[in-house]
Amino acid sequence: MRFPRDREFLISKEDEIKKGLTTDIYFIRTEKILRSIGKLDTNVKMEISSGGLPKGFGWGVLAGVPEVLNLFKDMEMDLYMMREGTIFKPRDDNGYRTPIGYLVGKYGVFGKYETPLLGLLCQASGIATYSAHIRLAAWGKVLLSFGARRMHPAITPLIDYAAYIAGFDGVSAILSAELLGLEPQGTMPHALILIVGDQVKAWKAFDKYVERNVKRIALIDTLYDEKTEAIMAAEALGENLFGVRIDTPKSRRGDIKEIIKEIRWELDLRGYKNVKIIVSGGVNLDNIKDMIEAGADGFGVGTSVSNAPTVDYALDIVEIEDKPIAKRGKLSGMKQVYRCKKCYYYRITKFQDTLKKCPRCGGEMEPLIHKVIERGRVLVDYSNIEETREYVLSQIEHIGKLEGIIE
Ligand SMILES: [Zn+2]
Repeated sequence: MRFPRDREFLISKEDEIKKGLTTDIYFIRTEKILRSIGKLDTNVKMEISSGGLPKGFGWGVLAGVPEVLNLFKDMEMDLYMMREGTIFKPRDDNGYRTPIGYLVGKYGVFGKYETPLLGLLCQASGIATYSAHIRLAAWGKVLLSFGARRMHPAITPLIDYAAYIAGFDGVSAILSAELLGLEPQGTMPHALILIVGDQVKAWKAFDKYVERNVKRIALIDTLYDEKTEAIMAAEALGENLFGVRIDTPKSRRGDIKEIIKEIRWELDLRGYKNVKIIVSGGVNLDNIKDMIEAGADGFGVGTSVSNAPTVDYALDIVEIEDKPIAKRGKLSGMKQVYRCKKCYYYRITKFQDTLKKCPRCGGEMEPLIHKVIERGRVLVDYSNIEETREYVLSQIEHIGKLEGIIE
């Protein structure tokens, strides 16, 4: 492979994705063969499902549907999907694999889009799923998406979108914030303090020159011990100081919980109870609870979210010319997924069947899969990102209450 001359960055252009150029070659060969034998127009129903979730998660968040709508709009086909932001289980409470959507129409219309379709859903859902689990673990705490720097800049907006709809409070990357309609959030880099040459002078300069609506969060681990710099920052900025941020390097961490506790104690002792403690650097699901217990008020979460494992959705034929058929290991026929509004019991049924009452608690069941594209016409509008985020948050809160994590 030579580095291409027609682009500076190794990314697919939007029209190349729309044309299906990022797909796997075997779909194009399949198209050629089916066209030659007159079977390209075979009517199929193809099911999107995930056999399991990364990290043993019991539930995931579906994300990426708006991009999928843009991929398939204007094509002669129907698309059925769960709503963007729906929390799903890979298997229902009877142990059957749960679908999240269906492509319905002639195979030749959409067959070759399997690769981009799955890619759009798998990555966004992976990030949203991990972010939502962090949201639940850190319920009530501030969560900022700091992961832009760990991934290709071409997908920065995607990463921040998925983290934000899954309940994060803000994002640091400027373009993401602009596209999401948010103010970008951040503190200050170590570079500022090193170049100014003095922590106190750097914090004061920040306070003097940065717009007033930006929260004053002092980075307190550049030169001295964290608790020493925390006190210095509080004394230097007084009431203007909103918080302190620690980004302690691995080599100095020892016990991060103890560091947080010491900072909290020393600040409180001097009357700076309002100063928040923000932690960044290596924050993930395995360590966030301990840091909250120690007194952390908020987190800048980077790599664990932007590099979240993807959800491995698959796409499979489940009907040909309205006859149920599926490969080994998959269930044939189009299905509906019902969820109990009360206890979040999941049950799959034949698509036409209705299930009104929850078999477990008698609560009301709701169908999760809806037609979202009809013969190329988009029937839903997921452009309101706040609405999607509220939907995800309400489900996370529901799960948190069911599991006794949230009071
Ligand atoms: Zn129920």
